Amino acid sequence: MSSLTPMMNQYKKIKSNYKDCILFFRLGDFYEMFFEDALTASKELEITLTQRDCGQKEKAPMCGVPHHAVEPYIAKLIDKGYKVAICEQLEDPKFAKGIVKRDIVKIISPGTITDTNALDEKSNNFIASLYMNEEGVGLTYADISTGEVYTTECMGNEKDIYNFILDEIGKINPSEILVNELLYNNKKIMNFIRNRINAYIDKYDDGIIDEEDYIDKVQKHFNITVNEKNSLFNKNYSIRSMGVLLDYLYSTQKNSLDHLKNISYYEFNEYMILDINARTNLEIVETIRGREKKGSLLWILDKTSTAMGGRLLKKWLEQPLLSIRDINKRLDIIDIFVNDIIFMDKVKDSLSKIYDLERLSGKISNGNCNGRDLISLKISLENLPLIKDLLINSTYEPLITLGKEIDCLEDVYNLIDKSIIDDPPVSLKDGGIIKSSYNEELCELRNLSHNGKGWLSNLEESEKKKTGIRSLKVGFNKVFGYYIEVSNANLDLVPDNYIRKQTLSNAERFITPELKEMEAKILGAEDRMINLEYKLFVQIRDDIKKEMDRIQRVSRIISKLDVLNSLSQVSYKNNYVRPHINNEEKIEIKNGKHPIVEKMLENNDKFFVPNDTCLDEENKMLIITGPNMAGKSTYMRQVALITLMAQIGCFVPADSADIGIVDKIFTRIGASDNLSQGESTFMVEMNEVANIIKNATEKSLIILDEVGRGTSTFDGLSIAGAVVEYIAQHIKAKTLFATHYHELTQLEDKIDGVKNFTIMIQEEGDSIKFLRKIVRGSSDRSYGIEVAKLSGIDESIINRAKEILAEIEMKNSGITDDKKSSSETKIKKKNKNNQIDLFQIKKDKLIEEIKNINILKLTPMDAMN
Ligand code: ADP
Repeated sequence: MSSLTPMMNQYKKIKSNYKDCILFFRLGDFYEMFFEDALTASKELEITLTQRDCGQKEKAPMCGVPHHAVEPYIAKLIDKGYKVAICEQLEDPKFAKGIVKRDIVKIISPGTITDTNALDEKSNNFIASLYMNEEGVGLTYADISTGEVYTTECMGNEKDIYNFILDEIGKINPSEILVNELLYNNKKIMNFIRNRINAYIDKYDDGIIDEEDYIDKVQKHFNITVNEKNSLFNKNYSIRSMGVLLDYLYSTQKNSLDHLKNISYYEFNEYMILDINARTNLEIVETIRGREKKGSLLWILDKTSTAMGGRLLKKWLEQPLLSIRDINKRLDIIDIFVNDIIFMDKVKDSLSKIYDLERLSGKISNGNCNGRDLISLKISLENLPLIKDLLINSTYEPLITLGKEIDCLEDVYNLIDKSIIDDPPVSLKDGGIIKSSYNEELCELRNLSHNGKGWLSNLEESEKKKTGIRSLKVGFNKVFGYYIEVSNANLDLVPDNYIRKQTLSNAERFITPELKEMEAKILGAEDRMINLEYKLFVQIRDDIKKEMDRIQRVSRIISKLDVLNSLSQVSYKNNYVRPHINNEEKIEIKNGKHPIVEKMLENNDKFFVPNDTCLDEENKMLIITGPNMAGKSTYMRQVALITLMAQIGCFVPADSADIGIVDKIFTRIGASDNLSQGESTFMVEMNEVANIIKNATEKSLIILDEVGRGTSTFDGLSIAGAVVEYIAQHIKAKTLFATHYHELTQLEDKIDGVKNFTIMIQEEGDSIKFLRKIVRGSSDRSYGIEVAKLSGIDESIINRAKEILAEIEMKNSGITDDKKSSSETKIKKKNKNNQIDLFQIKKDKLIEEIKNINILKLTPMDAMN
């Protein structure tokens, strides 16, 4: 290092502490990057790579971006998965002795970026911290752009911990995750995280955990007292993850984190549990293919007017409720809106004028808000009384209560109104932000500068007259300040008191002592004005920051109102009905529809065929058969989605719906994408089934689509049969089971609560027509070839398939009972007795065993067994 220039030495020293970041090193008006960082950044940002002398033989690679337009560059690097460390000049270079002092003022990472242009306004940007050991796991996550902080924990065995992490991380979809070493070394979980979540991973050593210290920090930061009632401090795992996160945020943000003061602890089973597969398969917030909002349930339900409402709706969808009371509270308000649509629309209109209060308050607290942000805040606050009045003056009790809770923050409004100019510039460093009437000194300085400028324009006129030079001009440039310009043709008219300053090709520039005196006054006033305005702005910002808690509270109310209004808009427009929520073990839906498929069909001028559902004691497990494309999956998902919508407190697409609270929804549908994790499709399927069997309860809703198809017919059939049997007899969860194993329909006669359903089709020659109606009974074929034909597969292949099928059927008709035939061809005989009787197998074996017993040699104990 010895031969490096002093500045490069300083650079290297700072960089050595931030090896995982791209270092933005402030040099005058630019942020420069050097060495490796320059190579990376120039490539990623597509900016020119240059060199700088660094004192050594080889020059240092360098690239840079202007300081006033740095944000988009940072956002781009973050988006590409880098972290950026901002190194600022800590003193004015003009006054620095030797090398200018510099240090890191902030680290920006995917989970801590607050630039609103880089964030999706309708999604949270969470940074999560996980602490895991063999017995439990703690999770804390925060959105530093909005000020939300949540924490939870889970104790259990390896599988419980695994599921908890998958489900919670899958739900919150953080963009950055802090993980301890033990977790980092767990391949299975980390593979999941890397494959499913596009998050930046920060590993930390288990050794940094210091529980005592964390309790202290948590207590201080969130301002909570430890007492017996405060159970948060008994949550060791939560506390550990929280402490790690707080340390990380303090060390990277290097500011107050004042808006991250409210923490919510929740038990992960406080809400309906939707495991990661259910979340994905039901396409709740994004589609499976393309992972986009369009085509998801959120897309249907999101008519929110504010960004914060949009984010809250997403949260509601991810956390359906379990309390009938809480659900009904939401339904009551939707009921009011859909029955008074003029009122509903008025509320929507007034909401649309509210900016993103949560992110605005985040910016104010982070200290990176400008005058325009305060004006956005003012406009939002200006509309609060309107909303409040609308609610309070309505005749609707729940809305009157909500209206009364709205704090219109008049003091904050008045402060901004009297201090900030209506159309301030983006920059804080050029003045023009604060109203003159707000501060006397500022007013004087403005007058001075204004009068000075007036004096200058008068000067031009008076000098013209005095000298008789008609083309004389008074001008300004940064190097010479104010000057008087005289063209070469008129130089002989220049008076004696003019002092020559600059020679141009066709003119000369002069100054006068008088002019310089005024210049000092004007420039001094402007400098002082800019400094004063900045000081005043910071003061105003800090005063508003003190009211952070109130701003956050009102933004929560507005978001809630917005979500309820959005659900009402959708419910009204789509003719949804209020579900009746109860605690009974029953789901009864009349003419239910799949909300998304219905919309998609509608957009293509097609109609959705509604269907009824009854899941109760008598009908606990519905075995659904029917050809591919008949609508089995749609039907099953529709039941799950209607239940979920009901439990978030929304009206549902049906003529009527009785929904007994469901504690968990499970789905086992189609192939998952775990293949990249080295598991076969069948293995993935079995893992998922095992998970369902372990965690489902009588109050759960299970959707199984073609379980067992990933292996040979008989293996698959046996597994499917055993799973149905187990769920129906032991778990007793409400289950919808679609299958091509027609043998399973025999279970209806053998197990209570199992009922067969089929989706009707109509045969038309060698083609079929889908009727989409679900009816009691079972179909005897899967019509695979007919469906293949509809799909447009080459005619010659279809014909050949028919020939092969006929051959198989012929062969099998001779070997009826040797259990080698395909399950499907057997069913074609339509003779129930000739079907493979799954459950006969077990009985025969037992009878055989009993027959073989030698009674004379049997001990009493064996006999009993
Ligand atoms: P399956 O699971 O039986 O193979 P799907 O549920 O995937 O069939 O349905 C196939 C297609 O049929 C859907 O994409 C949809 O376009 C249409 N469909 C399903 N159910 C209905 C219905 N009730 N009304 C109208 N069209 C439907």
